Amino acid sequence: MFEKKPRAEQGDDKPPSGLLKRGIMRATSKPTPIAMFEKILIANRGEIALRIQRACREMGIKTVAVHSEADADAKYVKLADESVCIGPAPSAQSYLNIPAIISAAEVTDAQAIHPGYGFLSENADFAERVEKSGFVFIGPRPDTIRLMGDKVSAKNTMKKAGVPCVPGVDGALPDNPSEIIKIARSIGYPVIIKAAGGGGGRGMRVVHTEAALLNAVIMTRSEAQSAFNNPIVYMEKFLENPRHIEFQVLADSYGNAVYLGERDCSMQRRHQKIIEEAPAPLLNARLRNKIGERCAEACRKIGYRGAGTFEFLYENDEFFFIEMNTRVQVEHPVTEMITGIDIVQQQIHIAAGEKLSLRQKDIVFKGHAIECRINAEHPYKFTPSPGRITTWHPPGGPGIRVDSHVYANYFVPPHYDSMIGKIIAYGDTREQAMARMRTALSEMAVEGIDTNIPLHQELMQDAAFLNGGTSIHYLEHKLAERTKGS
Ligand code: ADP
Repeated sequence: MFEKKPRAEQGDDKPPSGLLKRGIMRATSKPTPIAMFEKILIANRGEIALRIQRACREMGIKTVAVHSEADADAKYVKLADESVCIGPAPSAQSYLNIPAIISAAEVTDAQAIHPGYGFLSENADFAERVEKSGFVFIGPRPDTIRLMGDKVSAKNTMKKAGVPCVPGVDGALPDNPSEIIKIARSIGYPVIIKAAGGGGGRGMRVVHTEAALLNAVIMTRSEAQSAFNNPIVYMEKFLENPRHIEFQVLADSYGNAVYLGERDCSMQRRHQKIIEEAPAPLLNARLRNKIGERCAEACRKIGYRGAGTFEFLYENDEFFFIEMNTRVQVEHPVTEMITGIDIVQQQIHIAAGEKLSLRQKDIVFKGHAIECRINAEHPYKFTPSPGRITTWHPPGGPGIRVDSHVYANYFVPPHYDSMIGKIIAYGDTREQAMARMRTALSEMAVEGIDTNIPLHQELMQDAAFLNGGTSIHYLEHKLAERTKGS
C-alpha cells in the first residue's frame, strides 16, 4: 500500500507513463520540452467549471464543457470552445455518467480531463477509466485516490509518513465486543466511531459512555453498509472543541512537493464549510511551517501527484490529521490570494508532466483572504431556494474577487448543490479583508431567490469570529441560541 520510491528515482526526469502514451512527451534520459495540452474537457458544472475554463483560456488551452440538459443555457457552456450534452438533469445520468464523459472526450479529441470537485473528482474508478482510455486525468494517480478514499488506509499511510493523526486505533474495529470495549478504554471517552468509506460528514457517531458503546458501533456499521456499501468502522478520540485547519499542497510526478500554507474552515454547519480564511488566525508560524513541511514530505513519500489538501482538527496547539482530499477544494481561492499562485493552472502544468516551478522558499504568504460561500437557500431555515435570479449585482472594488457562473435571468436548477458562487475579500490585514467583505456583502444584490447573504453579514459582525479562532461547533451553537431567542 505504502509506495516507496527508490531514492534515485525521486526528482529525476522520468515522465509519467500516461503522457508517454499520449505522445505528449518523449522518453529520453534528458529533460524534454513539455508539450502543453491543446484541449481539456471539464467534467463538472457551475462556478468550478467556469473557474477551470478561465484557467485554460488564460493558458491558451481550448475547453470542452460537458453539461446536463438542465445546464444547456449556462453562459460558461456557451463560452467553451465546444460543448457536449451528456444526459438529463439528475447527476447520476449526467455528471456521474462515466461512459458519456469518456465518449465526449473522444468525439472532441480532448487530451485531458479536469474533474473539478465533487461529482467524479475522487472516484478512483473514473480516474482509471480516463487513463485507460488514453486521456490524462488532471489529479493524482488512481491508486492514490483509492488509498485516500478509505479513511482507515489514509490514516495509516499518513501516520507512517510522519503526519500527526487523531489518537485512536490504527485499523478497522474488530467484531469482538470485549476488544471494542478495551480499545475505547485505552483511547479514553468521548470517542467517535467513523465509517472507513464515509464522506460528506455522514457515517459518524460520538460515544460518551461505555454503556452506549456497543450499540453505537452496531448502528454505525449498519449505516455505513447501507450508505457506503462498506461496513468497516474505526474509532478515534473525539476532540471536544477543535478548529478545522487544512494545508494545501502541490506535488509533481518527479518527487517534488511544496505546501501553500493553511486555511481555517471552522465556520461550518452540519460539517459543511461556509466561510474560509487564510492564513488561520492566531496560529504560530513555526508550527505552521512544521506541519506544512510534514504534509509536503508525506507527498514525497507516497508519490503524490497534483494538488491536494490535508485536513486537520486543531486543538490546544496540536494538529490531528483526519483526511486528505485529492482534488481542488471549493476554498482554494483564499490560498491563491495570499500566495499569488494559480492552483488550477498548477494542476494543469503538473498533469502535463512538468516539474514544479515553485520552490518552498519562493512561496511567500502576504496579507489575508476570506471567502463567503453564497448559497441559494434561506439564510436561517436553510431550505434550498432554486429558481430564476431576477437581479444579480455582484460587488467589486479593491481586493474583491467573485467566482460565480451566475448572471441576471439565470435559473438555479433544483438538481444540484445550492452553492451559486463565492465572494473572496483580500486585505493587507485580517481587519482590512473583513472590512472589504462587509462592504462587498452590502453591495451585493440578488433577487428572485433566497440567499445566505444575511447570515454572512451577521457573521462578519460577530465578536467571537472577529477575534478569530472559533471552533467547528461555533456556528451551530450560535444558530441554536438564535432559535431559542426567537
Ligand atoms: P467527512 O469525510 O465526512 O467530511 P471527516 O473525517 O473529514 O469526514 O470529518 C468531518 C467533520 O466531523 C470534521 O470536520 C469534524 O467537524 C468532525 N469530526 C471528525 N472526526 C472528529 C474527531 N475525532 N473529533 C471531533 N470531531 C470530529
